[in-house]
Amino acid sequence: MKKNKFPKFIVVTGGVLSGVGKGIATASIGMILKFYGYKVTTIKIDPYINFDAGTLRPTEHGEVWVTDDGGEIDQDLGNYERFLNQHFSRKNNITTGQVYFKVIEDERRGKFLGQTVQLIPHISDEIKRRIKEIGNGYEFVLIEIGGTIGDYENIPYLFAVKSLEREIGEENVKYVLITYLPTPKHIGEMKTKPTQQAIKLLSEHGIFPNFILCRAKEPLDSVRKKKIEIYANIDSEHVISAPDIDTLYRVPLNFEKDNLGKKILKEFSLKKRKKPDWSFLEKTVNIIENPKNLINIAMVGKYIDIGEFSLKDSYISVAQALEHAGAKNNCGVKIDWISAQDVENGKIEKKELKKYDGFIVPGGFGKDGVEGKIKVIKYARENNIPFLGLCLGLQLAIVEFARNVCKLENANSVEIDPKTKYPVIHFIESQKNVIRESRYGGTMRLGAYVAHLLEGTLIYKLYKECGRIEEDRYYIEMLKKDRDNIFRLGYIEKRKPLILERHRHRYEVNNEFVPIIEKKGMLFSGYHNISKNEKLMEFIELKGHRYFVATQAHPEFKSTIFSPSPLFFGFVRASLKLKLD
Ligand code: GLN
Repeated sequence: MKKNKFPKFIVVTGGVLSGVGKGIATASIGMILKFYGYKVTTIKIDPYINFDAGTLRPTEHGEVWVTDDGGEIDQDLGNYERFLNQHFSRKNNITTGQVYFKVIEDERRGKFLGQTVQLIPHISDEIKRRIKEIGNGYEFVLIEIGGTIGDYENIPYLFAVKSLEREIGEENVKYVLITYLPTPKHIGEMKTKPTQQAIKLLSEHGIFPNFILCRAKEPLDSVRKKKIEIYANIDSEHVISAPDIDTLYRVPLNFEKDNLGKKILKEFSLKKRKKPDWSFLEKTVNIIENPKNLINIAMVGKYIDIGEFSLKDSYISVAQALEHAGAKNNCGVKIDWISAQDVENGKIEKKELKKYDGFIVPGGFGKDGVEGKIKVIKYARENNIPFLGLCLGLQLAIVEFARNVCKLENANSVEIDPKTKYPVIHFIESQKNVIRESRYGGTMRLGAYVAHLLEGTLIYKLYKECGRIEEDRYYIEMLKKDRDNIFRLGYIEKRKPLILERHRHRYEVNNEFVPIIEKKGMLFSGYHNISKNEKLMEFIELKGHRYFVATQAHPEFKSTIFSPSPLFFGFVRASLKLKLD
């Protein structure tokens, strides 16, 4: 085997319990290797039978992340994109459902020539094939295996990576175990036993971790470090302490304090390609931790029965986009999660809304709390308070404007009231068939679509100011080369500014009402051309308002700490200005 053959694979597994930040740790390792000058990609393996995360309940599973190519994926992919500041494909997520689907499809086509199709080798080979396909052209491939060691569902994946190791040599595959060290209250001492058991479980698959990242409330002391070192039979330098932190982006900085990047490179007999420059991240994290100003933003959704915890998980990208935009404005963003139902039934009164510097109505589905959201939008519009509407937020901003300004009584979205006299938000033809045939999985308008922006509008200025028109040009060129996704370009008009934002929705603005709405002062500042003659409205803004902006897209999916979303940036800036005025 030749030395330093690429790609190198780093397999990340979790021991003890889930939800201890495996995704963030994986994303941080990716970021570090990128900062050392390597080409990195990451894969999230979800061992569930669902084909993708599109039909999973967000309150149970967290937000559904959308990729440029329309994948509906586990939120870990969002962490990868935010940390690595690069776009991933739906292929970067492997689920058991996809793997079996493909193998069964191949079997039906007679591809296995009479063989008995089995878990091993057919399923594990398909897993390997997918991993290799994604890794093609990269130098490092991080593979995060979801769940916890000991789960039955993990077994084929552990087998597959072990088999990959046999195939390409152990010098090309290394393992990281992320574990958790609890400190039971009545004992008051950090315990290593669950970690020892995780190491043992992993060893049953022939896997011995090269690094162990120890998540815990506090940093690991030397006694615990020694115990793990002896038990796992690894160098104590490879036992890394990862205590709880307040700001996610501290994680890579902390790992670097432990020289994790250099240690990983050494493990692969590699050298750094460049000296990493952490100054921007250091500076940004310091702003997030000690902001000069603080604004209070209300996020209005239908949360009442869920509780705040899962709620934050369902809108993680919106909260992240606010954090990014806050850092760029040297400003902290405190988010209050307001129940739209409480606004609707009067439990939250108008005067309570006064304390907010801005309002966000994020994406959502169904009727619940819709009238409450509309009330908040009306309040923001009439009182000149910054408002940002995302997807459903745009749809309801149009409903509110149609009802209260254009005097189209009981105007609505057909999602909420199918019989409304003024269907300002409606189905387009292609979605009608989907619903009729109950094809709910993967059939929304999904992925990054091109939008034309009208020059001179606030939205155009924000995209320009944030460098996104330049940045998106690169991805639009990529889209032109991509046969499967080229339809997302639509019909392109020459010499108009173009941008790309991601979508996940079924309903659209009804163009029939656009002239009436525009006449009353709402501006449609961007649109997608399905064809030369059919437009989909993508952006609105209100002339004369401090900041009243909404989009049919989900710009939060493209916001990173390195490149905050223009619409969030403008929103935070306007809210801060209102506060300081
Ligand atoms: N329910 C709306 C639609 O399907 C909005 C979806 C969303 O906000 N993501 O169009």
